[in-house]
Amino acid sequence: MLPEFRNEPFGDFSSSERRASMQRALRHVAGQFGATYPLVINGEHILREEKLASLNPAEPARVVGYVCKGDQELANQALSAAEAAFQRWRQVPVEARAQLLLRAAAIMRRRKEELAAWMVYEVSKTWVEADADVAEAIDFCEYYARQALRLQGASHPLTPNPGEYNELRYIPLGPGLAIPPWNFPLAIATTLTVAPIVTGNTVVLKPSPRAPVMAAKLVEVLEQAGLPPGVVNLLPGDDAVIGDYLVDHPKVRFIGFTGSKAVGLRVLGRAAVRQEGQHWLKRSILEMGGKDATVVDETADLEAAAEGIVAGAFGFQGQKCSACSRAILVDGVYDLVLQRVVERTRELRLGNPARPETNVGAVIDKRAFDQISAYIAIGQEEGRLVAGGEVVDHELLKDGGYFINPTIFADVAPRARIAQEEIFGPVLAVIRARDFEHALEIANDTEYGLTGALYSRSVERLQRAREEFHVGNLYLNRKCTGALVGAHPFGGFNMSGTDSKAGGPDYLHLFTQPKVVAEKL
Ligand code: NAD
Repeated sequence: MLPEFRNEPFGDFSSSERRASMQRALRHVAGQFGATYPLVINGEHILREEKLASLNPAEPARVVGYVCKGDQELANQALSAAEAAFQRWRQVPVEARAQLLLRAAAIMRRRKEELAAWMVYEVSKTWVEADADVAEAIDFCEYYARQALRLQGASHPLTPNPGEYNELRYIPLGPGLAIPPWNFPLAIATTLTVAPIVTGNTVVLKPSPRAPVMAAKLVEVLEQAGLPPGVVNLLPGDDAVIGDYLVDHPKVRFIGFTGSKAVGLRVLGRAAVRQEGQHWLKRSILEMGGKDATVVDETADLEAAAEGIVAGAFGFQGQKCSACSRAILVDGVYDLVLQRVVERTRELRLGNPARPETNVGAVIDKRAFDQISAYIAIGQEEGRLVAGGEVVDHELLKDGGYFINPTIFADVAPRARIAQEEIFGPVLAVIRARDFEHALEIANDTEYGLTGALYSRSVERLQRAREEFHVGNLYLNRKCTGALVGAHPFGGFNMSGTDSKAGGPDYLHLFTQPKVVAEKL
């Protein structure tokens, strides 16, 4: 019997001991820069000439690692390996599959600072953000191990029918794809990989080309934990070469995807087309973008609201699906909250996240830098610039890092582009609402529905928000980021995805099919 699930505690970097050991981990990891990571197919490590170079966004001249690239032939091999391994793996008792996840969690716990250090370099997470990413990955392993035992280790009661023995079992689907984004390169790669395998499926993991080293680290951890060959196959590569090819492949039974709306819709459309030799409907589990709002009314604790808005908007440079990209403030407190948000934002330290004092690192790459800069130009037309927006200081630019100052536009219209389109960077649109009613209307007026927050002391309004603020994850009097596995199962509505909840009690169902057997006695 496993002890009850508890969230992995976050690192306390106020302790000098902890700071010193994180510094050691950063040095250790920097000493391994430039290594080459193989593809992994059927347990074999395959080295190739064609490689992705993973660059440090804060110092792009530094290559964090080279990851070998797959092509369509290797995609075929990876799916054949997953198909063959499925026949063995689905018969492995759920207890043994759960043990694999628990061992992986233990290894991640031991390697916590090292894994966090890789993320500091590969995606420019601050220490705190990188530590939280590892903690979440550990949580997914611990949580799904327990959920799998609940789902597949016990029988599920059915209405008794005299003269029959009837049972309901949740069986796995088959070989599938795990397609994570780059922004939670360990946690989301973990949830999309370990949830299917603990329920008896096998996986081809196609990581984001923007964070492929972390995916290689995840597979390394799973191998250390005793992963059998073929159960997880690692296939990095160019999306243009293997993206559609994998999604279209007739051997694929399910697709676990997290990423942008545009790619999610593309995956959904292609997965719906039956291919020659395909005997099933592909199940698509899609987690997509957000345009998340924090509403503040005149009864709220305004300081707490300002703090929550700034943390939600600029944590990890605003590159979270849950990031607060709209602050909707009611008229009576608009000026005051805006002022405190701007003041708090000016206190944030932009810089290389390898340094502990940094609050805001670099954005992921040149493409993101250009896209976010273009939105800042649009914002100049659509709002009043009250923070950021200007070029960053020379010290940061000398390494060529992709730094963008946390940027705030005030007086933005609810239907403005910067209030409607996901920017995925450190840009906040502040919108004035006449009153609470109007604020709620504005909050719901997007195509997304991922997270939202309301700061209010009014019991009636908190209740209204519960009923009418249409998001998958609603936070009352706290920031709209930072979901915890188990405590805040996570996933959004509308264009934010297929309404699933990672880290929740229903999640593993998505990777199974219920089978009922009725036996006449
Ligand atoms: P993205 O859509 O560009 O890429 C996501 C994944 O899809 C990557 O692995 C990418 O390589 C792959 N991909 C790209 N084209 C493909 C194709 N044609 N076929 C198959 N795969 C393809 O997203 P991103 O930039 O990596 O991540 C940021 C996005 O993810 C944001 O929109 C963010 O809101 C969203 N996100 C959502 C959640 C959530 O839980 N809802 C969590 C994190 C990130």
